[in-house]
Amino acid sequence: MKPDNNTQEKLNDIINGYAKQLPDKIKDIETICEQVFSLPRDDDRLKKFHRIVHTLAGSSGFFGYKILVEPARELSKLIKNIIENNIDLDEILKIQIKKYIGYFNELINTNDKFKNQDVTKVFIKTPNHEASITQKEQKEKLIFIVEDDKYLRESLSIQIQNFGYKVYSFANPEDLQKNSKNIVPSLIIADIIFSENSISGIDFISKLDKTTNERTFVIFISTANDPDTRLRAVKAGGDAYITKPINFSNLIEKIESLLNTVEIDPYRILIVEDEPELSSYYSAILEGTGMKTMTVNDPSKVFAPLVNFYPDLILMDMYMPQYSGIEIAKCIRQMDSFFSIPIVFLSAETDKNKQMAAMSMGGDDFLIKPIEPNYLISSVTIRAERMRILRSFMEKDGLTGLFNHTKIKENLVNAFKYSSRNNIPLSFAMIDIDSFKNVNDTYGHPVGDKVIVAMSKLLQQRLRSTDIIGRYGGEEFAVILKDINSSCAKNILNDLCVNFSKIKHQAGDKEFFVTFSAGIASFPNFNDPVDLCDAADKALYKAKNFGKNQVVVAEKMFC
Ligand code: GH3
Ligand code: MG
Ligand code: MG
Ligand code: MG
Repeated sequence: MKPDNNTQEKLNDIINGYAKQLPDKIKDIETICEQVFSLPRDDDRLKKFHRIVHTLAGSSGFFGYKILVEPARELSKLIKNIIENNIDLDEILKIQIKKYIGYFNELINTNDKFKNQDVTKVFIKTPNHEASITQKEQKEKLIFIVEDDKYLRESLSIQIQNFGYKVYSFANPEDLQKNSKNIVPSLIIADIIFSENSISGIDFISKLDKTTNERTFVIFISTANDPDTRLRAVKAGGDAYITKPINFSNLIEKIESLLNTVEIDPYRILIVEDEPELSSYYSAILEGTGMKTMTVNDPSKVFAPLVNFYPDLILMDMYMPQYSGIEIAKCIRQMDSFFSIPIVFLSAETDKNKQMAAMSMGGDDFLIKPIEPNYLISSVTIRAERMRILRSFMEKDGLTGLFNHTKIKENLVNAFKYSSRNNIPLSFAMIDIDSFKNVNDTYGHPVGDKVIVAMSKLLQQRLRSTDIIGRYGGEEFAVILKDINSSCAKNILNDLCVNFSKIKHQAGDKEFFVTFSAGIASFPNFNDPVDLCDAADKALYKAKNFGKNQVVVAEKMFC
């Protein structure tokens, strides 16, 4: 774990910005205080007074002014008491309040003495998911194969390349050492037994330099299946062990789980907080761990981002002008689609009863300001993760993990709206595996399932993370390609078609190949999501009629 420099810089900027504005904030408190004192009693004004003092209690601790937290909290309680119990603001109370404000000024004017510098050294965990890895880096993941059987070596190499990896293959460990030019791969697939004058794969792997920063994963492939060899393989640093004959689906599954190359969409966090400095602060911390954030400083504007940004979690301030965090949470909970979204309250509120009230209104956690960054990160991560799992049950297909039919259609409507509003192209492709019934009839349903999984893996590997992939039905898939016109989409699908046709599937000791056909329709050629869907479907039908294993683009005249 190491601090993220970028995040650190951002945080320092925010912290410095806060320090600059602090005298003005205290001035605001003074101004409203004077109004409260000089004008006739007005509870709304008193509430505003309470809110800004309360905000100071909540925010100052974050930005290095921990010394302000307690007095601000005390003053906030005092004002609240005046409001709730309708207490007369007599001279004694006024003097007491003025003392607090004088104290604030004193504290900030000597801020260098009091400023807790620790805050500028926030310790941020490094991302625990691969959100920051770009598609390009991901595609460049390098795999070495060391295998003396020429046929197996070449066929594995081709198969793995079809899934988007770069592969170098070597006939034996000596060949690898001579020709790898000190390049460190992400993964080595190593056979164990080579000819007599070569060292064994296990000895070779155990001698590898394991001190480099980059971790190299190892998968052993061997006909040996005895416990002794398997144990020696583990001891040498093997992460997986696959016996020959190799089932390619198992191998690719292992590769993917080790290299974690299917990009995880970063968690989306909606921050509802009226204090811009605080929301920037939360945002910088969370984005530093690879999450995406969106901020709403005016709580009444929370509803559009709920739908458009589709957060996995909401961080909600308690005290805001106009509507409280609790009221907003209640309102969100009344919307069917957001009934189960986690809401984490943030507040300087230390009153246990108030906290309980917030929780009973559907809060999932209650974090007290100032919040420890790592505590904020872990609280948010745990709950966002759970939301993802919950959503995946509702939105994803069980066999492939792709979006289900309902969700892909919903995504198409949204992507279409976005494209037509911004006038950028959009392509929709329908894919159907050819003669799939034959696969099931010849090799059995479980083997058919593996072909469906291979198809989904290929789509996930080869398309960009911004493309949306769904399982439309049994052996049918749908892909939404954003910002891609029809001719570009045709090239992409043609490449996929070639890749897929080269993947060797296995049923026991039998090997076979499968193809697919696809139909594409694009915006602006078609100007409605329903038309787009129909046109892609018709184009797919044409591709089947033209002899399958091909891609057809719907021309405007089709509809
Ligand atoms: P075409 O080339 O015209 O698309 O022919 P096809 O045989 O692929 O199409 P058809 O629609 O006749 O058959 C699709 C088959 O897919 C029928 C169905 O049993 C099978 N299928 C649907 N869902 C699944 C699944 O989840 N697993 C498996 N193994 N088979 C499935
Ligand atoms: Mg607030
Ligand atoms: Mg079909
Ligand atoms: Mg089919």
